Amino acid sequence: MVTCGGSRTSLSLRFAYHSDHFRSTMSDSIVLFGPPGAGKGTQASRISSLTGKPQVSTGDMLRAAVASGSELGSEAKGYMEAGLLVPDEVIIGLISERLQEPDAVSGLLLDGYPRTIAQAEALAEVEGVSAVISIEVPDEAVVERIVGRRMDPETGMIYHIRFNPPPTEISARVVQRKDDTEDTVRNRLSAYYEQTAPLADWYEQRGVLVRIDGNRSIEEVGSAIEVVIASLGD
Ligand code: AMP
Repeated sequence: MVTCGGSRTSLSLRFAYHSDHFRSTMSDSIVLFGPPGAGKGTQASRISSLTGKPQVSTGDMLRAAVASGSELGSEAKGYMEAGLLVPDEVIIGLISERLQEPDAVSGLLLDGYPRTIAQAEALAEVEGVSAVISIEVPDEAVVERIVGRRMDPETGMIYHIRFNPPPTEISARVVQRKDDTEDTVRNRLSAYYEQTAPLADWYEQRGVLVRIDGNRSIEEVGSAIEVVIASLGD
């Protein structure tokens, strides 16, 4: 009986705590949400300079860990190459540490995190979220965008073999991400629908989800996002 009463109290405290974390302040984080290939990374640097919030991509952090051969990297590598999500306990720890860094004090611009309800719950325990910008793109456009995506390893610039071809002088050195093949993209899309897409409703219920049509030019999507960012200051 005592235990039951105790847990009810802590549940309501938890709720109060959570709702505080969905009341928008300028120091809260912003989440970029959407399927792989939606353009989250492309839009992130612009939003980061608009808001001053450092861009944090869990995909980039994991790729750096794989390249460095760290323990985290060897744990994540197999999941990433198969197009599966890395387990929550690995990724939650990574972001919790990142949030302790001094530059996280005004919030982060999160690209690719959270991707499960468990990750969103863990984030809500430690950080406020003022907006979740959902960039929406149909599946076939996602596949076409990702399979044609190439990166210049020297500058980090992203190109597309059809929509934004690399200049001739660098076309010989561009590389394709290991998980950007058609089979892996289909797995990444399945993981998105099964584990990540339900988060849109979760955030919608908390009043912070904003949907943007991502099936437009980079500039048009960018302008739509700017309107959202400007409204956060109101
Ligand atoms: P991205 O660069 O965001 O497309 O991420 C590349 C891969 O990293 C994903 O397919 C996952 O295997 C892994 N990954 C990135 N972010 C997360 C996350 N928040 N949760 C689980 N796995 C992730």
